[in-house]
Parts: sequence; structure tokens; C-alpha cells
Amino acid sequence: MLPLAHICGSYILLLVYYNFFAFNESFLVTIVCLVFSLVPDLDLIYFFRKGSVMHHNWITHTPMPYFLLSMTIFLLFEKEIGLGILIGAMSHMFMDCIGSGDGIMLLWPISKRKFALFRLNSHGFEWLKKYVRNFGFLELLLFFLTIYFIYIILSDVLI
Ligand SMILES: [Zn+2]
Repeated sequence: MLPLAHICGSYILLLVYYNFFAFNESFLVTIVCLVFSLVPDLDLIYFFRKGSVMHHNWITHTPMPYFLLSMTIFLLFEKEIGLGILIGAMSHMFMDCIGSGDGIMLLWPISKRKFALFRLNSHGFEWLKKYVRNFGFLELLLFFLTIYFIYIILSDVLI
């Protein structure tokens, strides 16, 4: 998925978590969650410089390092921050499975098999064209759902 959908998807997931698990809403946890919804794609900076965009083969696109980081912070420091990291990074992993060029190694280091929902078998600009044509509606849906939820939250706060 594209960065805007990662932010919107993780925000919606965080709202679901806040509502169903009576988790105290926190501005800091929300920011941590949104940042970690984008962190896995930071490796693109390195790959663009190399002239490649096949970054799903790297450890940055596997759930395990984020799981270990979030559990370490959860157990040793701040539980809520650990959960924010977990929700942001895991939403990125699962959303990247949808319409991915090659899939995500969800079970690494046990297996290097890549999982994808509707694999597009392309990369770079060709992938982007296919992705927007087939899944652009999903990006828009997540964006408008997020705007709607923010509107609901703000109207509760302001009234
Ligand atoms: Zn990604």
C-alpha cells in the first residue's frame, strides 16, 4: 500500500483497539503508532539510491523485529508505547500483503515464504500503475473512513 493508506489503516486499527479494549486514548501512543505504520518503508530511501524498489526481501518488512521491539518496550518500559509500535508496524505488514508486488515474509525467520493477497508480480512504476488501477479504491476508502472517524471524534469533543 501507499503511505497515506498505511497511516489511515493504522489509525483506524488503533481506534478499534481504543474502543474495544477500553485502552486510554493517548496522543503520544497515536503518534508512535502512525510513525511505525511508515517505518518499514524507510528502507526505500536506501533502495531508491541503489535503483531498486524490491525492499520486501529485507528484514524491515518482516513482523519479527517490530514484535521484539514492541514486546521489549511493553515489558521493560511503557506498555502503551509498546502497543502503539505493535499496532502501527503490524498494520503495515498486513496491508502490504494486499496488492503487493511479491508479498511479505510474515513467518521470517522460520520461513522465507512470501504471503500476499492479490500478488501483482511487478515492481517500481509498473507495480504502481497496476496497484492504483486495482486497489486505488481501497486507498480512497481508508482515507475517507479516517476523515469520517476524525469528524465523529471532533464533533463529540466540540459539542
Ligand atoms: Zn511497506
